[in-house]
Amino acid sequence: MVRQDTLSRACMLDHPPVAYLLPVPGPDGIADCEVGWDDLGRDAAWTQERLQAHGLAQGHHAVVSFSGHEGAWFQPVIEALRNLGVVYGSVETMGWDHVRTRVFQRELDLHAILGLSGETLEALSGQSMIGDFFGETPVVMARPDGIAKLRDAGVSAAVISTLGPALAIECPERAGAHVNRAEWTVTERDGRLSVTASAERAVGGREFLLETAGTVRADPCACGSDDPRVMFT
Ligand SMILES: [Zn+2]
Repeated sequence: MVRQDTLSRACMLDHPPVAYLLPVPGPDGIADCEVGWDDLGRDAAWTQERLQAHGLAQGHHAVVSFSGHEGAWFQPVIEALRNLGVVYGSVETMGWDHVRTRVFQRELDLHAILGLSGETLEALSGQSMIGDFFGETPVVMARPDGIAKLRDAGVSAAVISTLGPALAIECPERAGAHVNRAEWTVTERDGRLSVTASAERAVGGREFLLETAGTVRADPCACGSDDPRVMFT
């Protein structure tokens, strides 16, 4: 059977509603979180708004740094970039792939690099000055473990981070990472964060206690968003 026939037959089959099953570590062990295809579509729409707020637009070049197991969080980022008409590439966010990050940065006239990890930045800092390396890139987003290294080097980076099964993205105000309030309720208990899914998600209404340390700000942000903001500590 040729590939086209195989694909057309596959399209006629029923598709499971669950796209990902995430293991979410918490103080009581690992909880499973189902992520549906519809969830991913709404996550992509929200992420698109967040990236537009940073000025990302058609024709820009971007690199997304994430690991293969992070598809449930970064597939919406990829989808948002596609919808915006941004030309993107991807690199592995573990430190061993820092060379590809360096080559893309040097060769592709990047407007944005999204998802830099502390490991990648540590590896790159052994080869060049981080401030020189990323200082000319208009939009730099890093994980919480890498943000201080960038800001100390004078790079005005914003946070992008997984938060249990949710994704948090800081706006240009750089006053905490926004979490989509239509999908998640974020709370803080004794310095640890928890997220509760909206009824609409595949995992509807369930709360996930996390080991992630941080605080939550619920007051409106100067960017105009009512989405709560997480300060990772
Ligand atoms: Zn904001």
